Amino acid sequence: MSERIAAVEAFRIVIPRDVPYLGPLGAGEEINARGYFIRRGNRSVYPATDTSVLVKVTTESGCTGWGESYAIVAPGAVAEIVTDLLGPLLIGRDPRDPVPLHEDLYDTMRVRGFTSGYFVDALAGLDIAVWDVAARLAGLPLCRMLGGQRHARLAAYVSGLPKPSLPARVDLALEWQAKGFGAVKFAGAVADEGEAAEMAALRRALGPDMRIACDLHWKHTALAATRLIDRMHAHDLWFAEAPVAPEDIEGQKEVAAKARTSVALGEEWRTAFENRPRLIGRCMDIIQPEMAHTGVTEFMKIGRMAEAFHCRAIPHASIGIGIFQAASLHCSVALQNCDGHEYQHSIFDRNLRFVEGDMACAEGFYSLPTGPGLGVSPSPDAWRYATKHEPA
Ligand code: MG
Repeated sequence: MSERIAAVEAFRIVIPRDVPYLGPLGAGEEINARGYFIRRGNRSVYPATDTSVLVKVTTESGCTGWGESYAIVAPGAVAEIVTDLLGPLLIGRDPRDPVPLHEDLYDTMRVRGFTSGYFVDALAGLDIAVWDVAARLAGLPLCRMLGGQRHARLAAYVSGLPKPSLPARVDLALEWQAKGFGAVKFAGAVADEGEAAEMAALRRALGPDMRIACDLHWKHTALAATRLIDRMHAHDLWFAEAPVAPEDIEGQKEVAAKARTSVALGEEWRTAFENRPRLIGRCMDIIQPEMAHTGVTEFMKIGRMAEAFHCRAIPHASIGIGIFQAASLHCSVALQNCDGHEYQHSIFDRNLRFVEGDMACAEGFYSLPTGPGLGVSPSPDAWRYATKHEPA
């Protein structure tokens, strides 16, 4: 039976939040008229809301698939690429060919230098939606379309301790430990007493068995990062994330070679091409692909390529309502080298009401949503915060 894509739509999602991502605003941090602010700790812009772009793909027979893109700032840019450029190129194509469709769309702009950034983010959202359609048409959960479910369950590490002081952050970590979580990561960008002091305080409070990782937010030189990781290694650091600037491949390699702790990289890379030189250079031993940047097709390519380099995968979790999170869980359970998944509790839990499905995270583990496709779709509640994007 023939199946063709009949419509592609994009929706901007903006959900207010009381406390910004990573915790309360610090001194000199102010939300501007567009709802954005800059964290002084890592000089990066963040939204005061939870913002993403949903992508809906519908076939001629009425089958619907959902995707979600990374669009935490300027979501209109991602939505415009979907509705003006990439979506119309998919009309009339068979959604049961998700990898060829991804390849064709990527090829449309590569010689112009659009091999990452907003263009690939838009492609990621579309790719997730096409895979969702393909799996629904097959009547299979997405992970079974990707070679099968390697892992019965997926360990979740608690990411971020969004409290204004170190004692409060330690208390929050203790709360998560009491809820059955065995791993936590703290954010260097808001460690106001310094990363080493935060690491020491957390280890003292949490005891020897808890895994503790630190996100260094790309802010150190290779030498400074190596010294800092050494100081945290004394307190049994689990992994050090993003120690140096994202462009500094030589620095990444140097840190990974000298550190006695695992180094994790990769939340900002969209494609296997960006991973490849870092894998060859042994710049990390853990990769952190972000589904909202990669889509399903590139995520799997990156994950399997990393396996060939004996590199582990612990995927990243960004800001969204849960559609790309579900896709990330399906891909993660299909990868042999996957050791768990980031759990952004301050986003995942509060946004769970915006998706229908039985996806959950409790007592240290994620449960994969059941049912065909992703196993999740936007709930009626999500539409209160959605605006359909019409091309300019
Ligand atoms: Mg990070």
